Amino acid sequence: METIIKSIYNNYINYIGTGKVADYIPPLAKVSPDKYAISICTVDGEKYNIGDYKEKFSIQSISKVFTLSMLAPMMGKEIWECVGKEPSGSPFNSLVQLEYEKGIPRNPFINAGALVITDKLLERVPGFSNELLQYVRSLAGSDDIDYNKEVSDSEYVTGERNKALAHMMKSFGNFKGKVSQVFRAYCNQCSIEMSTEQLAQAFLFLANKGINPLSGEQVVSYRDSKRINALMLTCGFYDESGDFAYRVGLPGKSGVGGGIVAIIPGKLSIAVWSPELNKYGNSCRGIATLADFTTELGISIF
Ligand code: GLN
Repeated sequence: METIIKSIYNNYINYIGTGKVADYIPPLAKVSPDKYAISICTVDGEKYNIGDYKEKFSIQSISKVFTLSMLAPMMGKEIWECVGKEPSGSPFNSLVQLEYEKGIPRNPFINAGALVITDKLLERVPGFSNELLQYVRSLAGSDDIDYNKEVSDSEYVTGERNKALAHMMKSFGNFKGKVSQVFRAYCNQCSIEMSTEQLAQAFLFLANKGINPLSGEQVVSYRDSKRINALMLTCGFYDESGDFAYRVGLPGKSGVGGGIVAIIPGKLSIAVWSPELNKYGNSCRGIATLADFTTELGISIF
């Protein structure tokens, strides 16, 4: 494993200039495009890290997996009355489909879907923003994880499209809270900063039948972990989900901070960070790295 990771890292060390660092949330534009890190955690407790794996970055939409996992045990199948479980085939912040489909987002991993999930969490969890941080910290086995106020504030003032999504859902009756409050919590969750080392550890429960290997706690049921993995496979990369399944063949989730985390059920989690994004908002070098990883290791879910 170590040799494979090193050789992939070395192959891609100069792979920059193929995409663009996200700039629609202004502080994200300041991140250097040459950052590159790979971290792996296995369910047997092995760890492999290379590159900038200690440096924290904005996890952005990767946070949508944490919020779905937090809500799943509270709501069970009722979740699927307010959000779908089909790939959207549209950009992560698209408004068009939401109008046609009467305010029910296609899935929990596009922005509209994640806003609904956060709305439900705010209704159910007192002190939600603090609880979410504790939740992520316990999964990662590290207290050194926080929101980035500059990133959250910046998205809060510039995120007109996300506010429009929330208002549209409210007009269809699929949104309970105040848009400003829910959007603030959403901006906070997207601004969480983690290193690839922390992120790989935090996703390991999804490779381990829903059990946090650090604490032995059943975070989500086996059934829910299977389902969350299925949703990551079909919807984790927006309108590039089919291509990611084709090239990499693993459930995973991306964020516009350039992070990608993927799961091999029963075996391991892998997190990659490289900030340059393709036109779908997914990390160019992250996808290339993972495609080589599954091919060279000879394991994918297919
Ligand atoms: N906070 C970002 C947004 O809402 C998250 C998008 C992403 O990472 N794809 O636009």
